[in-house]
Amino acid sequence: MAIQLFDSLKRETRELQPSHPDGVFRFYNCGPTVYAPAHIGNFRAFVVNDVLRRLLELEFGPGKVKHVRNLTDVDDKTIKRSRDEGRPLAEVTKQWTDKFHADCAALNCLPPHVEPTATGHIPEQVDMIDVLMKKGNAYRAPDGSVYFKVSSFDHYGELSRVKERELQPSSALKALAADADEKEDVSDFALWKAHKDEDGVNSWESPWARGRPGWHIECSAMIKKHLGETIDLHTGGVDLLFPHHENEIAQSECCNGQQFSRHWFHNEHLLVEGKKMSKSLGNLYTLDDLTAKGFSSMALRYALLMGHPRKQLNFSLDSLHAAESAVSTLHSYFSNLVQRHEANRGAAPSGKFDDVLNALKNDLNFPAAFGVLFSAINALRVENTTPGDLAAFIRATWALGILLKAEFREVHIVPDEISVLAEKRWAAKQAKDFAAADALRKELTAAGWSMLDRKDGYSLEPLKKS
Ligand code: AMP
Ligand code: ZN
Repeated sequence: MAIQLFDSLKRETRELQPSHPDGVFRFYNCGPTVYAPAHIGNFRAFVVNDVLRRLLELEFGPGKVKHVRNLTDVDDKTIKRSRDEGRPLAEVTKQWTDKFHADCAALNCLPPHVEPTATGHIPEQVDMIDVLMKKGNAYRAPDGSVYFKVSSFDHYGELSRVKERELQPSSALKALAADADEKEDVSDFALWKAHKDEDGVNSWESPWARGRPGWHIECSAMIKKHLGETIDLHTGGVDLLFPHHENEIAQSECCNGQQFSRHWFHNEHLLVEGKKMSKSLGNLYTLDDLTAKGFSSMALRYALLMGHPRKQLNFSLDSLHAAESAVSTLHSYFSNLVQRHEANRGAAPSGKFDDVLNALKNDLNFPAAFGVLFSAINALRVENTTPGDLAAFIRATWALGILLKAEFREVHIVPDEISVLAEKRWAAKQAKDFAAADALRKELTAAGWSMLDRKDGYSLEPLKKS
């Protein structure tokens, strides 16, 4: 079964497939703004995207997915934080980038293949703005800022269904917009922001004025550099749908003259005790707040996956308690399986837990996936399992990422074709057909795997890359 995912632009569930001839699936996920610790709402977005990344790797193969997630390290919030703390911007953003990485590791999120920063891509952003200026999609305002001319892009608003009239606010609203005097039209948005005193030293040279890039152009430029002009999937939380993603589409499509992303996916928000998270309500949690209360990071990961990602999810400490107990049930089942089949690691997955993967492939239906997983472990007593059941269990829980990598010890996700070769080789060896067994070992080595024989079975290890 192919991966089916709701597409926020086409408003329908569609199959995910790579479109480039190299077969590499190009996946971009908007990353965090690094000025403070990410909260558990942000981590809902990153954990959901991590399951998506894992599913894509299972589907297309580990080398066939390129996952890029940016770090927003220059914007109003990061600059304000640096000013308030009297510290250089780079020092502030490094601190929160390091914390973000530590939290992602604790939540068992795979690192993206590329993690570009906005400040590391100023020339690429300037180049794109330059093209937009030359094509007449952008204009320089009197203060040297550059704006995108929304009326120059006919498809503007298709993602968010912003209606024409909503883009033409009243004159009262116009007067309120901070940069209203500079723009030709209130719906136009900044590509380049001319330097202001409050930006301090955080500005760069450009053909228009010293300044800094707008937020939206950052993603467009990093995507173009690291994934190309047309990508297969672009994701983020629903709050990014408008204006951020709408503006990314406008800039990229006008600059490149190509379709920007073939598929869009947006996760809904996490609420806490039924309310939007906010500092003033005292319901804004970070991972550290919850581990300080004695919860494990895996329980948080599980709790963030408890609802359908396109529906709001209500988080509470009760739901975290339930998640903790579910994770501990899965851990003990896994340990018992591992003990029972220690000598048989590397067998082909039996298919017993495939419905978990099928539920995930069906528009990331997490509630169904967990339902199927628990029904399966209730129905299948460890004494009655085979080594292939262990392999199938590992595959399903790896996709969900709910058992930490360390707990898998030396267990690896073995691609199906490798399992098939290993099974054939094992059968040849049992039949004393050593020539065939040797030939199959060579095939395994060429594919990057070593097979370790034991008395009653074998295990498979990926060969270390030199
Ligand atoms: P930010 O650091 O604000 O740019 O956000 C990082 C990611 O978290 C983005 O994809 C946001 O859409 C997402 N996000 C922010 N708040 C929430 C929330 N309460 N629930 C789920 N996702 C969120
Ligand atoms: Zn973005």
